[in-house]
Amino acid sequence: MKRRNFLKKASVSGLGLVAVSSTLVSCDDKKVVRPVKTAELEVVKPLVIATWKTDLAVETAAAVLEKGGTALDAVEQGCRIEEANEKGQSVGKGGLPDRDGNVTLDACIMDDKGNYGAVLGVKNIKHVISVAKKVMEETPHVMLVGDGAESFAVSKGFKRENLLTEAAKKAWEKWKIKSEYKPIINIENHDTIGMLAIDKKGNISGACTTSGLAYKLPGRVGDSPIIGGGLFVDNEVGGASATGLGEEVLKTVGSFLIVELMRQGKSPQKACEEAIGRIVNKPGKDFKNFQVGYIAVNKKGETGAYSIHEWFSYNVYKNKENKNIKSDFYNKPKA
Ligand code: ASP
Repeated sequence: MKRRNFLKKASVSGLGLVAVSSTLVSCDDKKVVRPVKTAELEVVKPLVIATWKTDLAVETAAAVLEKGGTALDAVEQGCRIEEANEKGQSVGKGGLPDRDGNVTLDACIMDDKGNYGAVLGVKNIKHVISVAKKVMEETPHVMLVGDGAESFAVSKGFKRENLLTEAAKKAWEKWKIKSEYKPIINIENHDTIGMLAIDKKGNISGACTTSGLAYKLPGRVGDSPIIGGGLFVDNEVGGASATGLGEEVLKTVGSFLIVELMRQGKSPQKACEEAIGRIVNKPGKDFKNFQVGYIAVNKKGETGAYSIHEWFSYNVYKNKENKNIKSDFYNKPKA
């Protein structure tokens, strides 16, 4: 279909149209490629996608969007649900501690204007996603770390509290017996939440929050709070987020890579698959004992997800339905 006809069709087909700038199109008449200032695309919105089985978090974010709230507020509110859920062992209160028994949290957030805020290695503050948002909105900086981040949070009215639950303490004490001081990365049960949302205006934001690897070395920071690693959003293209072994995500700048692949025309699904490929296809890479999972959404509201191993799932809210979906994965028995 010629592009002009496609655009015409899209603009009469109803549901959610949004203006996208700087799309490169080929102009049939003049045989040149030129940027089109405003093209209209059919968009599925509002929409939320998040890592793992995060029904309540996604429902909470969706409720913000259905009331006309921004994607930014939606991802913040959604992530706060998991931060407060003490049963989740890799995010917020209840998260497993570092090898010295300290729970330290990492989080970041990006809005539709390309703004970013993050906090790294924060103790005693549960809702680090909201602290990251304050860094983005109320400071001239993008990242605060450790004690500085904690003091900043307290200065903004956040309460200090003990994040190490009895259950997490018991698990840590058990681990210490045979620990060999190796951090643990499992491949089945993460609950780090990465969340992306498109609001009714078609704008995209994202957020990511975690307690990181269980029993990590004190001071270790993974991908989750790092722009382009655990999260990246470009409102003209889409967004991506990661979970799993942060070191591997960082070495391939996974979320940025996915957004750039989508910019070049790949679907969110294909972009996630290629990003996993960049990890597993490194020469000699032994990926048997770690997991990485990606989620992505593009400007049209098409979604994708892919992981190294089975057991990764994600939630999608669209057309007023919230579903947990099993992700496709790389490590299948060869036929
Ligand atoms: N990506 C997180 C990290 O490496 C961990 C996770 O997803 O569970 O800190």
